[in-house]
Amino acid sequence: MTPARPPGTDALGETLAYYRDLGVAELYLDERSEEHRDFSVNRKTAKQDVVLLQPLAHEVSGCIKCRLSKTRKQTVFADGSPGARIMFIGEAPGADEDAQGVPFVGRAGQLLTRMIEDGMGLPRSSVYIANVLKCRPPENRNPEPDEIAACRGYLERQIDLVKPEVIVALGKFAAQFLLETDEGITRLRGKWGIYRDIPVMPTLHPSYLLRQPVLKKEAWEDLLAVLARLGIDAPARKGKQP
Ligand code: URA
Ligand code: SF4
Repeated sequence: MTPARPPGTDALGETLAYYRDLGVAELYLDERSEEHRDFSVNRKTAKQDVVLLQPLAHEVSGCIKCRLSKTRKQTVFADGSPGARIMFIGEAPGADEDAQGVPFVGRAGQLLTRMIEDGMGLPRSSVYIANVLKCRPPENRNPEPDEIAACRGYLERQIDLVKPEVIVALGKFAAQFLLETDEGITRLRGKWGIYRDIPVMPTLHPSYLLRQPVLKKEAWEDLLAVLARLGIDAPARKGKQP
């Protein structure tokens, strides 16, 4: 029996598994997949290193580089399209994510999904979603610096392979990780930064927005700036935050 493919790696999965079995390490796609043909959110032409995400997800699933490996149910690698133009990066899995193995599926995840789908007008499956930490911190406590240091190579490799055109940093931990700063998210949000050569838009974390709904309009402005930068029109009822 073949083991289940980790979430975030199953787009094009069958084809890729076939090529991998043939020993092909990289695929060059010159057309959007049929599934995403209608969405300006996937690259038209791209050298996609998607095949290499699968072994990385597999490596992460057995990782014991920090103490969180002892308390997690399972690792949470990513969700969405490896060919995405936009990558969202959160903090760490919570209880629901730990149980399902998929990022952003709990209450905060449902808000993020509404922001992407209803707000930005993009299918969630067309963006790529990952976290700074791949394992849940007990009681959802903040990530410790040594845990972030142990895990950082995985996210760096995910970004290298997906090569998004824009990264949205959700909350303080993702923003500080990418921008190498100690500034708080309130100061960072809404201002473009850069990670390697990729523009980064820091914004408020959806969990924070659940506690402070009045701040949703700030986050919405940040997402509109992301769409504008990519030349994607906001949906018709634009200006209306999710
Ligand atoms: N919060 C995060 O930062 N990531 C998740 O995957 C879920 C909640
Ligand atoms: Fe490994 Fe990251 Fe999980 Fe720590 S959080 S065990 S470094 S995958």
